[in-house]
Amino acid sequence: MLLTTPERFIVPSKRKRVPAPPKPKPDVSWMLRAACRNMGPDLFHNDDRKARGAKAFCSGCEVKEECLNYALTQHIHEGVWGGMTGTERQSYRRRIARRKALNVVQMGD
Ligand code: SF4
Repeated sequence: MLLTTPERFIVPSKRKRVPAPPKPKPDVSWMLRAACRNMGPDLFHNDDRKARGAKAFCSGCEVKEECLNYALTQHIHEGVWGGMTGTERQSYRRRIARRKALNVVQMGD
């Protein structure tokens, strides 16, 4: 006597899915060394045209690269991070994607 439905006959959407492993939390220890760590968000969350002051401030920050990388990987689209405005990060991300695509095409030739 068959008590359970064999796996083969279960509709795929009804099968138990193995949950994806949790994503590791990003390392944010660099924030403790940020030049802006004791500042409010106002300077960094102006629109792009008023971002000059924030970008100048970022230019002397020792964790600029980590900050930019964090904003890119966390898909933060607003404010100045790592010396770039949201618009600049978007075009930077597109340039990187285009370059990667070109490399793939060249490697495939
Ligand atoms: S790069 Fe700019 S926004 Fe990023 S931590 Fe440094 S001062 Fe702050």
